[in-house]
Amino acid sequence: MVLEKIGSTIQNSLKKLLKLTIVDEAAVKELIRDIQRTLLQSDVNVRLVFELSKRIEERALHEELPPGFSRKEHVVKILYEEFTRFLGEKPAKIPIEPGKRNVIMLVGIQGSGKTTTTIKIARFLRKRGVKVAVICADTYRPGAFSQLRQLASQAGVPVYGDENIKDAVKLALDGVKKFSEEGYEAILVDTAGRHKDEKSLMEEMKNLAEAIKPDHIILVIDGTIGQQAMIQAEAFNNATRIGSIAVTKLDGSARGGGALSAVVATKAPITFIGTGEKIEDIELFDPPRFVGRLLGMGDLKSLLEKVKEAEVAVPEKKVKSLLAGKFTLEDLYSEIERVKKLGPLGKILKMIPGLSFQLEDSILKVTEEKMEVWKAIIQSMTKEERENPKILNASRIRRIARGSGRSEAEVKELIKQFEATKKALKSLRRRQLPIKMFEKDLF
Ligand code: GDP
Ligand code: MG
Repeated sequence: MVLEKIGSTIQNSLKKLLKLTIVDEAAVKELIRDIQRTLLQSDVNVRLVFELSKRIEERALHEELPPGFSRKEHVVKILYEEFTRFLGEKPAKIPIEPGKRNVIMLVGIQGSGKTTTTIKIARFLRKRGVKVAVICADTYRPGAFSQLRQLASQAGVPVYGDENIKDAVKLALDGVKKFSEEGYEAILVDTAGRHKDEKSLMEEMKNLAEAIKPDHIILVIDGTIGQQAMIQAEAFNNATRIGSIAVTKLDGSARGGGALSAVVATKAPITFIGTGEKIEDIELFDPPRFVGRLLGMGDLKSLLEKVKEAEVAVPEKKVKSLLAGKFTLEDLYSEIERVKKLGPLGKILKMIPGLSFQLEDSILKVTEEKMEVWKAIIQSMTKEERENPKILNASRIRRIARGSGRSEAEVKELIKQFEATKKALKSLRRRQLPIKMFEKDLF
């Protein structure tokens, strides 16, 4: 689906940024250029792209970091917020009033996906416990009724229509009457939409609406027309106060982003998006969720968690001293609390930027439980022993084990792990890492 494509391109750009140690002006600008390119490729209006990227850039470069936010988190937060503002901040509401009879009429240019969307919405509502039926008021296209009937049986919803009646209004009214008497809560009316231009489409819609008196009208717009969707959405928004828009075919075309953003720009509410040919391929339009998907995560919270994970910061001073080979049991002890918050030691070491060195699995699998044991053991050591573990002989080990209530084997294991970690850190140093890499985010 095109939106996933947009999403994965933006996610890649974002990942590129998250991998950087220093997020500076150039990095922000590059991210924005990537996003612009992606949006323009999916036919988003140039002016909209410009406005969106300008806001992102302004905020990312000039806004003060909120307390507790790193530069990277802040950039992700801004992207999320600006994209959400761009696409709408609230999820769409299902356009029916519960406990009441709701007549929903679907209009749109021929081939836009009205009949498919009628059934998709019917199925969507039925799955949510709404008693729903559909009416075929397309008396124009041959075979329209049998198409709807066939889809309706797939969706398990009753259908009303009559191939021999040519009066669409009469058909619609008869159907509404019948289903109302039978206690249906949602009655969807599929119409013909034989018109090619929005002006005559709106005329037809008005005439039908006057006769049928629907509670809600949904304009179905074909997403493959890209930013041209704006013209239809605007005309529709001016013509009715009880309308919302369904944008279809967001799966196939590269222009879906353009259609969606163009409709949003007219302030016409989008209720549904169609994402495939099958009757289950429909979603209530939920911009925050949608943006989360574009950026690669469910919501802002999980996005920020992901950033945190990618940038668990090891303090610069610590890294320098570790790399200088000055790693003592004292260090290990003081790190345990910190480490416990952040995850296993091996994970932290792996996150030292620029490294992908291999630590023994045993080191990586240090559990929290084990850390508690280590803490107890180290607590039972003298200062001298912590700083110079080499002096730990059999009798000292016995004393420490007794003092900490752990076994001698556990004390020995700690020493072994400690030595292995120290060795790993030393070999790191031999690779001459540019210490600069650990300096604080300078931006
Ligand atoms: P109508 O003339 O407005 O009633 O349009 P139809 O419902 O008959 O749909 C026209 C064509 O578009 C059909 O081939 C549908 O399968 C297809 N279609 C509708 N919605 C979608 C969608 O969300 N994705 C894709 N890929 N095709 C769709
Ligand atoms: Mg149709």
